[in-house]
Amino acid sequence: MPDRGTSLDRPARHGATAADGAPRDRSEALFTRAQAVMPGGVSSPVRAFRAVGGTPPVIDRGHGSRLVDVDGNEYIDYVGSWGPLILGHAHPAVVEAVATAAAAGLGFGATTEREIELAELVTQHVPSIERVRFVSSGTEAVMSALRLARAVTGRPLVIKFDGAYHGHADGLLVAAGSGPTTLGVPDSAGVPEALARLTVSIPCNDLSAVERAFQANDGAVAAVIVEPVAGNMGVVPPADGFLLGLHELCKRYGALLVFDEVITGFRLSLGGAQERFGVLPDLTCLGKILGGGMPVGAYGGPADLMRSVAPEGPVYQAGTLSGNPLAMAAGLATLETLERERPYDRIDRLARDLDEGLSRAAGAAGLATTSNRVGSMLSLFFTDRPVADYAGAKLADTDRYARYFHGMLNNGVALAPSQFETAFLSTAHSDDDIRHTIQAAGNVMAGPAGG
Ligand code: PMP
Repeated sequence: MPDRGTSLDRPARHGATAADGAPRDRSEALFTRAQAVMPGGVSSPVRAFRAVGGTPPVIDRGHGSRLVDVDGNEYIDYVGSWGPLILGHAHPAVVEAVATAAAAGLGFGATTEREIELAELVTQHVPSIERVRFVSSGTEAVMSALRLARAVTGRPLVIKFDGAYHGHADGLLVAAGSGPTTLGVPDSAGVPEALARLTVSIPCNDLSAVERAFQANDGAVAAVIVEPVAGNMGVVPPADGFLLGLHELCKRYGALLVFDEVITGFRLSLGGAQERFGVLPDLTCLGKILGGGMPVGAYGGPADLMRSVAPEGPVYQAGTLSGNPLAMAAGLATLETLERERPYDRIDRLARDLDEGLSRAAGAAGLATTSNRVGSMLSLFFTDRPVADYAGAKLADTDRYARYFHGMLNNGVALAPSQFETAFLSTAHSDDDIRHTIQAAGNVMAGPAGG
């Protein structure tokens, strides 16, 4: 069992705000150095805390449910490396598997037995996958799955949903918004209009908008890609019948349904969201938990579709580090542990307790919040309206979230540094962690940071 630590038994030693002046000096110094050599001081933008302000702690290590920064401050962690760490930090079985694999060589650029075993586990548990191709990130998984979808349908367009994130491939950095359902508008500099126009972005949970998009682009839509439970605008569950409706519309209009299960895969059940909701996509994208904390992605589907992937078919896709032995070892140890322990009821229950406790704390402080939770993924939105899509999520009070975020950090609880992200539970979280977190939220929300 991880050392549960005592960070909340004593006040966390924190210095996120000038007001409390607690030490985070080494983080400050290191982050200054980081900014001199890396854009924003980070390797991925959200880590820079731009959405909440302040300086991010520089992390030294993690154990179980805890993160420890370079100043020795400990936090109960609900980021979980942005989703992969369903077993918590430095799970002994995963660490041992990686160490053993490393001792036998870091990579061969050739098929290994562990890779085959991991592929077998994926095909055994994810209902729609008969063949799987490993890549090194979720971005690559989505990019490759959509190339395959375009190849087999011979069509150019992809329908996605506003506020959904599918990695940073050019054509997917499109949120559209403001109504243009037939014309993609790039969300990032450097994305040519010509590529953005291949993506049609529409509000989620609105089947009639999907049907209209199909009609407006008759015979040109290769795929609909969806996060079956959205996790990148905060948690937004699928409306009743939405996933099944997508399945039917895709069949009717001859497009493929692609589930981006990079977050939900192995988190909402061993078979992911598709097992939990009983709707099978044509293609599935995986990542995060599949790599147990190492860089891994994958895409897969029925054998007849996957036969189009090189070398069996004409859809080229390759990777020097794909199927890397350390990454395969971490993924295998993670999935085997999940298979053995079947922890889903427990972590879902912990997430429910946390969700209810946070809502109670907000209510007691007179704050208007809405919580969305599916399994062990949850978001607390600072709005009193239900959040069923991106437009709804955007109504949340992000300044208030920023104050809440820093208040929690100063009380030893690390939430995602943005209102539009997900909190993740792991098997390493304990009832004590949840109790401490709710208590901290109560104090923060009732204090000046809450108001
Ligand atoms: N799809 C989803 C649903 C994601 O949440 C993410 C990353 N958060 C990606 C794709 C991209 O994965 P990666 O960051 O590994 O490229």
